[in-house]
Amino acid sequence: MSAGGDISDSIANSFATRLIRWQREHGRHHLPWQNTRDAYSIWLSEIMLQQTQVGTVIPYYRRFLQCFPDIQSLASAPLDEVMVQWSGLGYYSRARNLHKAAQRIVGEHGGIFPEEVAIIRQLPGIGRSTAAAIAVFAFGKRAAILDGNVKRILSRCFGIEGYPGEKQVEAQLWQKAEALLPKGDESPIERDIEGYTQALMDLGATICIRARPMCGSCPLRLECVAFRDNRAGSLPTPRPRKILPEREAVLLLAVAQGKILLEKRPSTGIWGALWSLPEMGMNENVIEYCLRFGINVRPMSQMEALTHTFTHFRLRIYPLILQVISRPPDHLTPEVLSQPRRPCVWRMPEDALKAAIPSPVRKVLLQYASQTEPLEIPAMTDN
Ligand code: SF4
Repeated sequence: MSAGGDISDSIANSFATRLIRWQREHGRHHLPWQNTRDAYSIWLSEIMLQQTQVGTVIPYYRRFLQCFPDIQSLASAPLDEVMVQWSGLGYYSRARNLHKAAQRIVGEHGGIFPEEVAIIRQLPGIGRSTAAAIAVFAFGKRAAILDGNVKRILSRCFGIEGYPGEKQVEAQLWQKAEALLPKGDESPIERDIEGYTQALMDLGATICIRARPMCGSCPLRLECVAFRDNRAGSLPTPRPRKILPEREAVLLLAVAQGKILLEKRPSTGIWGALWSLPEMGMNENVIEYCLRFGINVRPMSQMEALTHTFTHFRLRIYPLILQVISRPPDHLTPEVLSQPRRPCVWRMPEDALKAAIPSPVRKVLLQYASQTEPLEIPAMTDN
């Protein structure tokens, strides 16, 4: 397929027809969010599937829908409960935005999910491609999607060079995505906008995959530039390499009578609104730091360090186990604490693991819980 110029109707129709026919025979038809017109469940699946594989999403999706079966129940739930259901899926801003958007749908749209792409796009956490996917699957609208999978397919098919995250390249891809939409005037197959959209998703997930695409089984191979020129391995152009800065932090496992201190993170920033182990800078004095929580501690042992990669930096985490020597009964009240603090709670490790916690904290807690030698923690004085 040509990389430049406009796409003729015949190319668009052939592209769509091949994809739709392939999807009907080889695509996925029984995912839990398929075969419904319920915009809420389609929206939920689209958000969960951003950055997360289908296999991981399915159990979360089912549990989430059991807890919050509709927009109203999600909008009226406390954010904490929503975060608990999301815990482990990562990219937690998705859950916060989902909650915020549900409240906005109830407040501004009478609890009815809007149908128009332009209005859907105004909801928190919903970009152009996600809005289009919801509009297609829930309302049968004719709209183009361009998620990571589709960017990969189009870059390869049309031999489009350049990292798809760059504005110019992305604009070129959007142009192609729009131009390729089935025109919908000739035959029923060309009007199947849902089949077409699902086909792009399925092809990107199962055939035109990142590494070693299965071109031999691809319905687009006869027209694909990357297949013709043997360039599937180099397209799409990878993100320009940049060295991420590294930060370091100490995560504190303060243990009192088997329970661990958890602190709520602020609602913005990394791990926003999640429960976490208190985090301390590398050069801070741990005993003085813990006085802020009203507890006296004794450092016990350092656990194995781990690294967590965020979009803009890498965090090297040094977990430190502390024995709490004394903990006044009212130690978490603001009067005792030396400065206004975020909410804190004490939890048994197994209960902490059920809370809305970020994945590196989960790893630390699991590592702690799996220690073969139970910690010898002497009795604590409650004063
Ligand atoms: S022929 Fe290969 S590279 Fe081209 S779209 Fe199909 S799977 Fe992707």
